Amino acid sequence: MQFVDEVLIDVVAGDGGNGCVAFRREKFLPLGGPSGGDGGRGGDVVIVAEERYHTLLDLQYRRVFRAQRGEDGRGKDQYGKAGADALLPVPVGTQVYDAETDQLLADLAAPGDRHVIARGGHGGRGNIHFATSKDRAPRRSEPGGEGEKRALRLELKLIADVGIVGFPNVGKSTFIAAVSRARPKIADYPFTTLTPNLGVVKLGADRSFVVADVPGIIEGAAEGAGLGLRFLRHVERNRLLLHVLSEDPDPEREPLRDLEVMEAALARFSPTLAARPTMIALSKADLPEVQAAAPALREALAARGKTLHVFSAATGEGVEPLLIALEKGLAASPREALPAPVTPPRAADRPHGDAKGFPPRPEDES
Ligand code: GDP
Ligand code: MG
Repeated sequence: MQFVDEVLIDVVAGDGGNGCVAFRREKFLPLGGPSGGDGGRGGDVVIVAEERYHTLLDLQYRRVFRAQRGEDGRGKDQYGKAGADALLPVPVGTQVYDAETDQLLADLAAPGDRHVIARGGHGGRGNIHFATSKDRAPRRSEPGGEGEKRALRLELKLIADVGIVGFPNVGKSTFIAAVSRARPKIADYPFTTLTPNLGVVKLGADRSFVVADVPGIIEGAAEGAGLGLRFLRHVERNRLLLHVLSEDPDPEREPLRDLEVMEAALARFSPTLAARPTMIALSKADLPEVQAAAPALREALAARGKTLHVFSAATGEGVEPLLIALEKGLAASPREALPAPVTPPRAADRPHGDAKGFPPRPEDES
């Protein structure tokens, strides 16, 4: 199980179509002059940044992206059609690297940014281009050019603005699903969420922010057992943390105590992160036991100068005010104000696999 913010893919542009050798048929001439058209050019592979994508996950399952081959030229001066380009939509913020050299090829920072990542081969010329005064019936034509092939590494630094922390089962995934178009996996038992769930909250045309849960803190990610440094690198960019508390059937658990346990775990996990601005919310407000616990908790937090936001992802109660409060909190905590990440540079945190840190790919032999 792994946080997919990086995928390896192959792109193959279309070959150009071959030029054609053909001759006009005229009544009394055996060879009526060359008429073989050019092949069409091969399609390009074009990477396009689109706002409706928020993860590279989908690309992982389709490893090879091919553009169409150009059509061959034909007789009667007919040129082959160009091959269609292959459009490869990626989330805004995707960076494209050559997988072999690690060279940055494209940085798709804005919606609509596009980059031709593999060029189609040129169309081969047909024999109509090779007639000379000496050779009026040329039997020469060109083959189409080969389309470019490339192995790419795509990297997405989709940075969550709000990191959601809390014990398993407090309703983090349900909240993210309720406030965003993300549909994270929701389970009835703890420790299932080891892949962070991301969601984009849209409050209006130009008002949106990214939320993600921060799983594995309790489970020991700070020790590198769970998600490791790779994941830590991401959450360290969270501008705001939202602690989600709730009532749990386990008598050992109690919201205020949970908060203290989370805070301590967080401080071990990342001191930088522990110093981030935080907000506190109580979930599942539709449940009577939560309603009963809310006033005392509200008071206890007020004593620490903290506001309690009570909400129910199930009914929607309190959700909108919470989102607006988060938006306000973010405005007061700009990304530029964050301290520099303390996690080591990449490469060191790659999982074991081949030399580049990836498991072998089925297409590797081609
Ligand atoms: P997570 O582990 O923090 O991500 O928790 P989940 O979102 O997976 O939720 C754990 C359980 O709590 C699931 O059974 C949810 O259906 C339930 N749950 C989540 N939000 C609410 C809520 O607002 N009201 C009620 N009654 N149950 C909820
Ligand atoms: Mg979850």
